[in-house]
Amino acid sequence: MKRKVVLQLSGVERHYGQGETSLSILKGADFALHSGEIVALVAPSGTGKSTLLHVAGLLEHPDAGEVLINGQACEGLSDDKRTAVRRSEIGFVYQFHHLLPEFSALENIMMPQLISGLSRKDASERAAQLLDYMRIGHRADHRPAELSGGEQQRVAIARAVANAPLVLLADEPTGNLDPATAHYVFDALEALVRQSGLAALIATHNHELAIRMDRRVTLSDGKVVEV
Ligand code: ADP
Ligand code: MG
Repeated sequence: MKRKVVLQLSGVERHYGQGETSLSILKGADFALHSGEIVALVAPSGTGKSTLLHVAGLLEHPDAGEVLINGQACEGLSDDKRTAVRRSEIGFVYQFHHLLPEFSALENIMMPQLISGLSRKDASERAAQLLDYMRIGHRADHRPAELSGGEQQRVAIARAVANAPLVLLADEPTGNLDPATAHYVFDALEALVRQSGLAALIATHNHELAIRMDRRVTLSDGKVVEV
């Protein structure tokens, strides 16, 4: 079965600043991510991994080029429509968990679902399922500060997929964790992708994790290339 392209970048350019100090980070980047696959984005610091993920996640506009989510071109969309696509189709995980400190793990995972209009009951049930799936069901009532780094990241991943997106984008999600914990977090992420058909693009400096993914790409002179 041919897998569907859920995220496509086409001729994406991103430049910072103007004139002589202008910095070209992405220079016509092309990339396709298919449902069910996990791709590692491995490149040195400062080469544009975060920039690429932000553009792909509709958090930033490219200066040129197009981002297609599930076949839909997103550059021409109104801000409201882009936000709607981002909320329903994209999950984002950062290096630092960015969980809301005053809410429990369960509530943090409920939040995006409530924003999308689910009832408290449905959101709570799905959040509990996701916590179980990430094997931290027993931590549901804990606030982020009461969780370990690995637990915090598993909650952040659960929150990112709470609205059942098509694409999971993760920016060095294990960059702050020790190697064993990084593998443990990745195990949970991988299981989630495998059972849901989600697609994931994960920026990482961890070579051991990168070789566990389906394929690896890097950034070279502002373009995405297979490694
Ligand atoms: P990476 O994630 O691979 O470390 P980034 O995408 O964060 O790389 O950054 C790529 C380059 O773009 C870096 O040189 C960074 O300083 C620069 N950069 C990123 N964001 C901005 C910005 N908002 N304004 C100016 N320069 C930026
Ligand atoms: Mg970065």
